[in-house]
Amino acid sequence: MSQKIAIIGGGAAGLMAAITAARENADVTIYEHNQSVGKKILASGNGRCNIINTTATADDYFGSNPDFTSYALKQLTFEDFISFCHSIGLLLDIKDDGRCYPLSNEAKAVLYALSSAAKDAGVNILTDKKVVMLSHAKGRFVVHTDNDKMQFDKVLIATGSEAAPQLGSSDDGYRFASALGHTLIPTYPCLVQLHLNSKIHHKMAGVKTFAEVTLYVNNKEVEKVQGDILFASYGISGLAILDISQKASLALLNHQNIMLSINLLPRYNVQKLNDIFHQLISAVPNHTLETVLGGLVPAKTVNYLCESVVISPAKIVSLLTPKEITKLTQLIQNWKFEVIDTHGFKHAEVSGGGVATADVNEQTMESKLVKNLYFAGEVLDIVGRRGGYNFNFAWASGMIAGKEMVK
Ligand SMILES: Cc1cc2nc3c(=O)[nH]c(=O)nc-3n(C[C@H](O)[C@H](O)[C@H](O)COP(=O)(O)OP(=O)(O)OC[C@H]3O[C@@H](n4cnc5c(N)ncnc54)[C@H](O)[C@@H]3O)c2cc1C
Repeated sequence: MSQKIAIIGGGAAGLMAAITAARENADVTIYEHNQSVGKKILASGNGRCNIINTTATADDYFGSNPDFTSYALKQLTFEDFISFCHSIGLLLDIKDDGRCYPLSNEAKAVLYALSSAAKDAGVNILTDKKVVMLSHAKGRFVVHTDNDKMQFDKVLIATGSEAAPQLGSSDDGYRFASALGHTLIPTYPCLVQLHLNSKIHHKMAGVKTFAEVTLYVNNKEVEKVQGDILFASYGISGLAILDISQKASLALLNHQNIMLSINLLPRYNVQKLNDIFHQLISAVPNHTLETVLGGLVPAKTVNYLCESVVISPAKIVSLLTPKEITKLTQLIQNWKFEVIDTHGFKHAEVSGGGVATADVNEQTMESKLVKNLYFAGEVLDIVGRRGGYNFNFAWASGMIAGKEMVK
């Protein structure tokens, strides 16, 4: 007799598990509380869906035990994923840096291919069906919704995380897991904007520039990245900020002291920047500091840089002392801001923390505490870097769970 399987959550991990299990003739039902499955897939990668990364290894993940991902990533190699995509009628655009997108560059193509494959394989997709409780007795599971309950042999919890609740995320999966004895690792927003403690960031709102960002936790450098930054009314955003946000957010959770150092001109070292300054002063000695600085850094930052080193922007550059020039160049390359919060789960792409991986078998995704209970995707205490790694783990863990549940 075929296995009767319930999958709670019709996101990336749930759909992958459903297709895999149903193709092996299991009787699969997806419960999805949104009106349609895969809302996050549609919103992903700015509507393009950075679907996977060709280079993913455990080093691209964070959590209590990032090595938990190793087995899954080896089971679903990039070549396996390409074959899977072909089997659902999806072609990929593979970028030089390892990021992959659907060839159409449209996330809706991914969702269409996945939902059609699930339907073709006979998956029973129940939308607008919120699971409110999961109970377990005498070796069977009962999935409760507001107006019905149904029994299953096996259940996969693939409810995702609390990030971006407007797309359907919830903490329900954590509740179900915890009620069945699983430990939860505290959650925190990741790939998220940061709030700054300064009197000037909001005045520079809208300034976007390429910079090097160094993150200090308790005065210790923990990460350095280059990329765009964008000052905002609440603090700071941009790809470089998203890239350091996991470590910043975890440090905030642990009540640590967090500083950002921004280098507005990372292409020059200190000496070179000093030389450039002196050359500019020789070339245009009668210009004001404001105009000279405006040729080096975004105009909207100039007044605040000058304010920080207490030099008037109206000062004629030939009157600057060597000490003042050094102060300015040092500030341009090491502008410090204190981080006091993140912009919250609503704005985060993913969440750190979740169901502790110590209680889950990494080779089967089955609970070590409750037989026939499985987990996949972001509900687990695994979070990836930006670049397709989060979907990567959702596909890999979903595929393993799907295969194992039919055994
Ligand atoms: C704006 C945005 C952009 C992103 N872009 C990318 C990207 O380009 N590349 C990348 O790798 N990652 C990206 N991510 C992250 C990626 O979307 C997630 O890591 C991934 O979707 C996790 O898959 P999942 O199946 O575990 O969870 P989800 O995709 O969140 O699916 C969980 C599903 O469970 C449903 N659910 C929850 N509770 C219940 C309940 N009680 N009953 C029934 N259903 C329930 C939810 O509605 C949801 O459909 C992005 C995230 C966001 C928010």
